Amino acid sequence: RAKALGRGKFMVFDEEMRAESMRLLDLEADLRRAINNESFEVVYQPVVAIDRATVVGHEALVRWIAPDGRRILPDRFIGMGEDSGLIQAVDWLVYKKVAARLANAGDTYVSINVSPQHFQSGDFVERLIAMMNDAGADLNRLRIEITESALMEDDGLAMEVLMKLRRSGIKTLLDDFGTGYSALSYLRRFPLYGIKVDRSFVSGMSADGDGSSEALVNAIVAMSHALDLECVAEGVETEYQAQRLVAAGCGYAQGFLYGRPGSLDP
Ligand code: C2E
Ligand code: MG
Ligand code: MG
Ligand code: MG
Repeated sequence: RAKALGRGKFMVFDEEMRAESMRLLDLEADLRRAINNESFEVVYQPVVAIDRATVVGHEALVRWIAPDGRRILPDRFIGMGEDSGLIQAVDWLVYKKVAARLANAGDTYVSINVSPQHFQSGDFVERLIAMMNDAGADLNRLRIEITESALMEDDGLAMEVLMKLRRSGIKTLLDDFGTGYSALSYLRRFPLYGIKVDRSFVSGMSADGDGSSEALVNAIVAMSHALDLECVAEGVETEYQAQRLVAAGCGYAQGFLYGRPGSLDP
C-alpha cells in the first residue's frame, strides 16, 4: 500500500517534471518568435537626486509583449534567455530603442542592463558603441548596469571591456549591490562609476524594523563615498526610506515612490 502510494507520487512528480520542461521548451520557442517579430517594449523608470527629487536619468527595462497583448516581466524569461543564449538578441532590441531615445534632445541619462554572458561575449562593447554612434546618441548619457557575476568569469576580459567603456564615456554601475559574493575588492580594482544598492536592503528599512538593514545601507553608502563611487538606492517605496537614505548620504534613488517604469512620452 505504502509502496503503491510512493510509486504513485513518483509518477506524479515525473509528470510535473515533464510538464515543466515542456513549458520551458514552449517558452524558448515563444521567445525566439518574439525576437523575430521584435515583440518587446522598453519602459523607463526615473532615477532621482534624492534630496531635491529631480529626475537625473532613467533605467530602461524590457517588457515582452505577448500575442494577447499582455506584458511579460523580465523575471519570467531572462533566466531562460541567458541559458539559451537568446538574451543577447533581446538586449540588442532594447539597446536599439534606447539609442533612438538618446539621440533626441535631453540632458538626462539612460541606464541599460546587460546579462553577464552578454557582457563577456566577444564584441559586445564595440557593437554597443557602434550602435550608439550610428544613432547619434551621446555616449556620455549612456550608462550600463552589470552584476557582479559579469566580473567573475574572466576578470581580465571584464577589465578590458570596462576600460573600453570608460574611454568611450559610457559609465558603468554595479547593479544589485550587496547580493553577490562581497564585491568589496572588485570595487577598487575595476573602473566603475557607481553602485546600485539592492532593493532587498532598502525594503528592510522601516520605522518598526530592527535597524539592521539601515546599518547595512549606512555602511554601503559610506563605503561608496570612500571609494568615490556614485550611490543609487533601488526599490525606494516609502517616505521613511527616502529620509533615512538622505541621512545616510545616499545621492540618488529609484523606486515606486518616485515613479514606476513606464513610457517616457507624456
Ligand atoms: P534590475 O536591473 O535590478 O531592475 C530593477 C527592478 O526593480 C525592475 O524590475 C523594476 O521594475 C523593479 N523596481 C523598481 N522600483 C521598485 C520598487 O520600488 N519596488 C519593487 N518591488 N520593485 C521595483 P523588472 O523591470 O521586472 O526587471 C527585473 C530585472 O530584469 C532587472 O533588475 C534586470 O536585472 C533584468 N532586466 C530588465 N531589463 C533588461 C534588459 O533589457 N536586458 C537584460 N539583460 N536584463 C534586463
Ligand atoms: Mg538594473
Ligand atoms: Mg537592480
Ligand atoms: Mg536585478
